[in-house]
Amino acid sequence: MPQVIKQSQQMQQLSLKLRKEGNTIGFVPTMGYLHQGHISLIEEARQENDIVVVSIFVNPIQFGKNEDFDRYPRDFERDFNICKDSGVDYIFHPDHTDMYPEGFRTYVEVEGLSDVLCGAFRPGHFRGVATVVLKLFNIIQPTNAYFGKKDYQQFKILQRMVADLNLPVKIVGCPTVREPDGLAMSSRNKYLSEEERQSALFISKSLFEVKDAFDKGITDSDRLIQLGLDILKQAPLLREVQYYQIVDPDTLQPVKQAKKGDVVLTAVYVGNTRLIDNIEL
Ligand code: AMP
Repeated sequence: MPQVIKQSQQMQQLSLKLRKEGNTIGFVPTMGYLHQGHISLIEEARQENDIVVVSIFVNPIQFGKNEDFDRYPRDFERDFNICKDSGVDYIFHPDHTDMYPEGFRTYVEVEGLSDVLCGAFRPGHFRGVATVVLKLFNIIQPTNAYFGKKDYQQFKILQRMVADLNLPVKIVGCPTVREPDGLAMSSRNKYLSEEERQSALFISKSLFEVKDAFDKGITDSDRLIQLGLDILKQAPLLREVQYYQIVDPDTLQPVKQAKKGDVVLTAVYVGNTRLIDNIEL
């Protein structure tokens, strides 16, 4: 049975003690409403560490004013049971006032990587992500921290933060878990109606087709992107494509000629739901 800890001070003291006793700690940060994508991270953490800590915290500072913070899906009891079944040792589940007490004013900015792709459409988002993850690292003292490549830009930004700030933690990137029909799992899929979900399938379909074309020898980015967009735009309830880019994995800057290891990323609105997905070439 996982132990639930709500206070950061208590969590930090416990983590320091566990590390002092020689344990490795595997950490999986989440915003809850857990699904198979989260579970895959927990399973990898379970295999590689003595202790597994999952955090469940819907981080207010990474949401914009008109974003879905208030309606973000939450179900702690369900999450608790998933953690129990996956062999989690501790669930860190703090209140906002514990994480951001009055007077809070320190933020982490990973320059250059945070203002492209999603960052261009969600100003301040990655500043909020980097800040909360650094706080969580200081509280949980992980040996290894597990992140999904579903949120590829986030994964890269956090890798950069850890390198730049000499943080003693290894960032482990884990593959995107998909539904059998290709849709990348996400807590936000809950917002989709059945018709919207059918439209959302065109996202992964288009990414798979781009990878296929690349594997067959097409490397011109513009051509690959056009091919992807042509498929995506067949989705009846597609409202907006915010970006569709092929970028270098380290700089996140667009490339002219795609090469192995580059990443195709997209963010779209299906109805009122913003969905992201990507594929590595
Ligand atoms: P979230 O709760 O959405 O903030 O996600 C918590 C962690 O789970 C992040 O590292 C995500 O990248 C990861 N994650 C979310 N969805 C998936 C997925 N479909 N496959 C793999 N990892 C995922």
